[in-house]
Amino acid sequence: MATPLYTPAAHEGELYCDSLWFGADIVTMHDGRYNIVEDGALAVKEGRILWVGPKHQCPDFITEHKTDFGGGIVTPGLVDCHTHLVFGGDRSAEFEQRLNGVSYADIAAQGGGILSTVNATREATQQQLFAQAEFRLRTLLAEGVTCIEIKSGYGLSVDSELKMLRVIRELGATQSVDVLSTCLAAHAVPPEFKGKADDYVTLICDTLLPLVASEGLADAVDAFCEHLAFSPDQVERVFDKAHSLGLPVKLHAEQLSSLHGSQLAARHHALSADHLEYATESDVKAMAENGTVAVLLPGAFYLLRETQVPPVALFRRYGVPMALASDANPGTSPALSLRLMLNMACTLFRMTPEEALAGVTCHGAQALGLGDSHGTLAAGKVADFVHWPVKRPAELVYWLGGQLPCTVVYRGESRL
Ligand SMILES: [Zn+2]
Repeated sequence: MATPLYTPAAHEGELYCDSLWFGADIVTMHDGRYNIVEDGALAVKEGRILWVGPKHQCPDFITEHKTDFGGGIVTPGLVDCHTHLVFGGDRSAEFEQRLNGVSYADIAAQGGGILSTVNATREATQQQLFAQAEFRLRTLLAEGVTCIEIKSGYGLSVDSELKMLRVIRELGATQSVDVLSTCLAAHAVPPEFKGKADDYVTLICDTLLPLVASEGLADAVDAFCEHLAFSPDQVERVFDKAHSLGLPVKLHAEQLSSLHGSQLAARHHALSADHLEYATESDVKAMAENGTVAVLLPGAFYLLRETQVPPVALFRRYGVPMALASDANPGTSPALSLRLMLNMACTLFRMTPEEALAGVTCHGAQALGLGDSHGTLAAGKVADFVHWPVKRPAELVYWLGGQLPCTVVYRGESRL
């Protein structure tokens, strides 16, 4: 028998919910479109949406918790589906050095670049990494993020990768946000494996991933497919192992050059292929055929002052969903605002505001394999939503930076 939609009423016709929210237009993002319900109402029960629709059609729910927003709009909680939020140290000194004319080569000779983050991450305790990441996470949460993915990938040793993944799990257990953990051990070749990338891949496959799986520390496995990182063959070994352990995969692909990593990802039914500045039509076609989401990352594009934009027109033509994320990381995207990424995606990649908002709601959720439970406002989905005192959803994209005031509701509870 199907589960009844409503709790059986004490008296005929009485319907109970935990909370009722109304007095705003509801931007449902159903099917990746705004699909606005004007003057809507939203009933919540046990952390899920029980009912959503126009206020005048709302059943007469019985609840002690009623909130009248008094105008504005309600969107799904924002989903940041690609971040590297856990890391030791930061690279602000290096950023400043570069702008003062110090060369990349000199910075690298001083141990700068990703190596400095790897060293700082290895030296940091789990508690230190947690405190630093929590600080960064809070700024994202304050602007409406209710679901976030965080990758490892700065430890690059068995112990340090496990340490990072435990920090990610701890963030999920202690903060009012859904945290998905991704093992990105194949992010860079660690210094002790210089010139021996295959041996490092063997360590990942034979030792690290089985430990990660047995401790339940990751929800997915990622890799960086690029000349300066791992080849498609090496990535395939990691993917095969991930599959054998029952873990879904995703890939950093086509960021700086075309290796057709996105086709490899699609062939492995990856949740997403990410970056994609150099993706070709055949890559996009393969992604469409296999349901792989395109995750676009304008923060890294901006900071690296790239000129090759991802093929947005091809993603549209082939119906590949486009997600957007902060890519928050110390080197190429020290971004602490997902909403700023919406503007960047429109300005730099010429996405529409509606596409951008879909990128951090329904398509972001799809990129994490959470399309059935997150990312739109519909009965049965998690009650994660944000009230914004603005007139139109495009305002969330239009205002450049700053912190728009908002009320974030996570699992039906207002997050203050
Ligand atoms: Zn990344």
